[in-house]
Amino acid sequence: MATLAPASLEFTRLPHPAPLALDARTAALADPGFGKLFSDHMVTIEWTEGRGWHDAVVGPLAPLPLHPAAAVLHYAQEIFEGLKAYRLADGTMALFRPEANAARFNSSAKRLAMPELPEDLFVEACRQIVAVDGDWFPDIEGGSLYLRPFMIATEAFLGVRPAKSYKFIVIASPAGNYFKSGAPAVSIWVSQYTRAAPGGTGAAKCGGNYAASLVPQAEAMAKGHDQVVFLDAAEHRWIEELGGMNLYFVFDDGTLLTPALTGTILPGITRDSLLTLAREEGLTVREDRYSIDQWRADAASGRLLETFACGTAAVVTPVGKVTDPVEGPFTIGSGGPGQLTQKLRQKLVSIQRGEAEDRHGWVMRLG
Ligand SMILES: *Cc1c(COP(=O)(O)O)cnc(C)c1O
Repeated sequence: MATLAPASLEFTRLPHPAPLALDARTAALADPGFGKLFSDHMVTIEWTEGRGWHDAVVGPLAPLPLHPAAAVLHYAQEIFEGLKAYRLADGTMALFRPEANAARFNSSAKRLAMPELPEDLFVEACRQIVAVDGDWFPDIEGGSLYLRPFMIATEAFLGVRPAKSYKFIVIASPAGNYFKSGAPAVSIWVSQYTRAAPGGTGAAKCGGNYAASLVPQAEAMAKGHDQVVFLDAAEHRWIEELGGMNLYFVFDDGTLLTPALTGTILPGITRDSLLTLAREEGLTVREDRYSIDQWRADAASGRLLETFACGTAAVVTPVGKVTDPVEGPFTIGSGGPGQLTQKLRQKLVSIQRGEAEDRHGWVMRLG
């Protein structure tokens, strides 16, 4: 469990010799989109067997020198995280629950037979990238600096076993509002593929899960839908989650339901935060199983008012329509964004941006 890392590692700063010029950066930040623009620097920390974590560097963002036999390229020993840095009203940069990302990163690491990173080192690496590239925060409506911490197996070895060397990296990508004018309701396709099986890697945030979701996602899009929803692998009946977002169901008796974390569902930090916020609102929140047949029946009877998906990137996304390849489509509520969906989204976003009271100590100020 415990890694050999010292409680605090000194970060060596190697400033970029030629950062992007101010006018070019300003132009790029006016419409950053999502995941296509990157700041000037990256943080890297090395791990080798016997030595643990060492050589923490904040240096220029650059391609990685990687041996073609590096284990990550063959056996997909890779995990990642995603969190956003915000600029609060007083100009201070802040992170939202980074220690929750650090803890989840380590549970992913365990499942993928990778070394754990001390949580304070994970958070410090995030602080370091924001400290050096905070000016890459896009000062636009709904803008954020999206941080992508990840770890890869770097050892050059083709045998199948856990690698003996790893690299932890944090890169930063300015992001605009995922949805320009609030979140429109999406149409989702019930996949006959499965995302995760009991005992598999569904609860780990690893690249491999995403690789396996690309064909189902492409199929959903080819059929005219925005997203894919996965059912459980054993009975193909219980609703799990979307390719990268958790689900919530809102009922007419004031209750909320989200699929329980059975080991095949990724434990989202947005999911967890909304659980707390909904309870504060006086709603009853249940974590339980919910079947595709019940979903359809409840939508038809009017008992189900809303469904939404949640995750860091888009925060909260209303689901308007669901299409099952066997039984056909059904509509949720009016087919548009629901009231509670909007309210919870607003609540969470205003805490993240420092506009509402942070009663749970979720916002970590970096100033
Ligand atoms: C990251 C992720 C989520 C959402 O997690 P957040 O912490 O809320 O961003 C949900 N499902 C999957 C499969 C994910 O990879």
